[in-house]
Amino acid sequence: MVQHASFTNHIELLTACAACPNVLGRPVVGAVADARVMLVGQAPGPHEADSRRPFAYTAGRRLFSWMSDLGVDEATFRERVHISAVIRCFPGKDAKSGGDRVPDDEEIARCGAHLDREITILKPKLVIAVGTLASQQLIGIAQLKDAVGRMHRAKRAGRTFDVIVLPHPSGRSTWLNKRENATLMRESLRLIGAHPAFAATFAK
Ligand code: SF4
Repeated sequence: MVQHASFTNHIELLTACAACPNVLGRPVVGAVADARVMLVGQAPGPHEADSRRPFAYTAGRRLFSWMSDLGVDEATFRERVHISAVIRCFPGKDAKSGGDRVPDDEEIARCGAHLDREITILKPKLVIAVGTLASQQLIGIAQLKDAVGRMHRAKRAGRTFDVIVLPHPSGRSTWLNKRENATLMRESLRLIGAHPAFAATFAK
């Protein structure tokens, strides 16, 4: 009950946050009050900002197809896994690349306080980090080849938890085109499916 009250307060604080001047739209979060598994992405894109729903577009279709390989459909995943991100607002487009802008250090630090609070309240046993930036923030490894395909242990906000990294499912990423990288990704998926917190989350 205490956890639910703290979590509700946290979500109210988060969804009202307007601390970053250069982001667009409102914060996006897939809130699950009693989750023991969290997923941390990079930042919402424009479609997510419009719908206020994380992984609502093409990257989501790919991510949820990976989860369906583990026997978990999208609706059940959204019901049971708290979906978070390094920053919760759409950063806007990068003028040079045309892709979504990578959040800057100040935005990451500011929004990191929301992530810390979530970790303190939810006490996750497993965090699935999606993409380079989430990997860097959670385990300090920015190279996917060094992060994907193995189990990591992380400490943050006074809690210790397992971290498994997946590459970003965006169609812009070409990382998975290499066979050895696809093998690492399959190993990450295997580790996620075998993790006791993931298994318990989807046991019924
Ligand atoms: S990115 Fe995070 S810290 Fe910045 S305004 Fe959005 S919710 Fe607040």
